[in-house]
Amino acid sequence: METHTDNCIFCNIINNKAPCEKIYEDDQVMCIKDINPASTYHYLILPKRHIRNAKELKSDDAELYEKMISTMDTILKEQGLNKQSTRAGFHWPPFNTVHHLHLHVISPICDMSFKNRILFAYNSYWFVNTDYVKSYLEGRK
Ligand SMILES: [Zn+2]
Ligand SMILES: [Zn+2]
Repeated sequence: METHTDNCIFCNIINNKAPCEKIYEDDQVMCIKDINPASTYHYLILPKRHIRNAKELKSDDAELYEKMISTMDTILKEQGLNKQSTRAGFHWPPFNTVHHLHLHVISPICDMSFKNRILFAYNSYWFVNTDYVKSYLEGRK
């Protein structure tokens, strides 16, 4: 259901109705800086289409999902960041902050506080890594 997008902060950002620090944009995705960075570098990669969360991704969205991942890889490379020391993943429902799908890209892990390491802990009940979502998506075919 794609309703209430007017109340969605990320839709507003995508439609230029709210301010942000934009890193990258094309017709499918946008990358912005997180306003509460959990480390020196903290980006959010958003699909332009309003998808509520990772659990609502369908097999038809596989291409869009891959686009989000390749955008992350490009940005890491451009910023000179090491993927091994980067934490990248999604909130897993019902634990979510903004109900518009977003990939958190946080680097380097060593600069993250204890609290943030827990908040963005892989494969906890509330946060999952990109491989987890990829397998989940493959399971939906
Ligand atoms: Zn939205
Ligand atoms: Zn978030």
